[in-house]
Amino acid sequence: MELLKISKKNFLSFVDKKMSEKKSRIVGVIQKGSHFVFDDLQSSKDLRLDYDVTILPPKKYFQPQKEVMLKFAPKNVESYVAVNSYDPITIFGIHYYDLAAIYLMDRAFSDGDGDEHYIKKRENSLLIGSYPQKHFKQRFSRSVVKDQYYKVADLMLVDMGDEYVIEVVSEKGKNYLKGSQLKKNTYSLKQVEEAKTHIKDDQKLPVTVDIASEFLTRNYYHSVWKYFGDKCFSCGSCVFVCPTCYCFDVCEEIDLTLAAGQRIKVWDGCMLENFAVVADGHNFRRDRADRFKHRTFRKVKYLPDRYRYFGCVGCGRCADACTADIAGPNKVFKYILEKQ
Ligand code: SF4
Ligand code: SF4
Repeated sequence: MELLKISKKNFLSFVDKKMSEKKSRIVGVIQKGSHFVFDDLQSSKDLRLDYDVTILPPKKYFQPQKEVMLKFAPKNVESYVAVNSYDPITIFGIHYYDLAAIYLMDRAFSDGDGDEHYIKKRENSLLIGSYPQKHFKQRFSRSVVKDQYYKVADLMLVDMGDEYVIEVVSEKGKNYLKGSQLKKNTYSLKQVEEAKTHIKDDQKLPVTVDIASEFLTRNYYHSVWKYFGDKCFSCGSCVFVCPTCYCFDVCEEIDLTLAAGQRIKVWDGCMLENFAVVADGHNFRRDRADRFKHRTFRKVKYLPDRYRYFGCVGCGRCADACTADIAGPNKVFKYILEKQ
């Protein structure tokens, strides 16, 4: 992989230049109160690459919380119009674990016939990644992410103090850099590696990812599920903030006058009580313990069985969002190990 470098001052000028060109929507991490979020950049000065974690992962740009798919006039069968938007988007500063999650989403939405709307949105995106520069008390991504993030990143920024080393991952990324004031990299690979990993995780998965699936399967009937299920409020926060949760529902909203309607795709989640309700009102995961178990198995067994990579990227957002303090998958493993 080619390594280049750029001073931080020139990098910010580069971001401003890209914004002024208006060739794509430019998104980056900005501070909101005491938190960080992905949002449209107004100026390079707002870009914060020294964040701990963002409230929501960048999945919201490819799988929005609420997305209109069709508009129609209910009384006119010929009025149905598809609503699609695939405007080009460039996202700056995605931590490597969120890129690993986008890789999983790409796999899921390309499976079978694929979701052409998701695929087009991804084709029109350019992803510029980075490595954490600040601790986050719930993060354990080093235990669960390998190097799959390079499969989706176009460029990766490595903070070297006054400069960034840029890992040029894709041809698209290389083209994007044209016109910037880049120099040849002069840092050793050891220095670059140290800069990428010097912020250590505060948490870790208590078992290795290679044995995690088998370990959990052996504990399918463990008391952990009831113990955690009894504490769960079924609020769904853990699945909504999760970068590897992408379940959705499709429903229709009709105007009270019956003059207009729209079909929408909205986030849904397996921790919500009605998620598994089927015809005739039967709910095949009525118990909180069953829902909690299903979510954990999806991350640790079902997704890895299908896509070869662990289904949790260790961002720690779920643990941070959970009022009951039970949502982090690492906590499940810890509990089982303590109660063997
Ligand atoms: S595990 Fe926590 S965040 Fe998730 S649904 Fe239960 S209470 Fe809510
Ligand atoms: S399960 Fe929790 S720690 Fe794992 S990716 Fe989802 S939000 Fe992050």
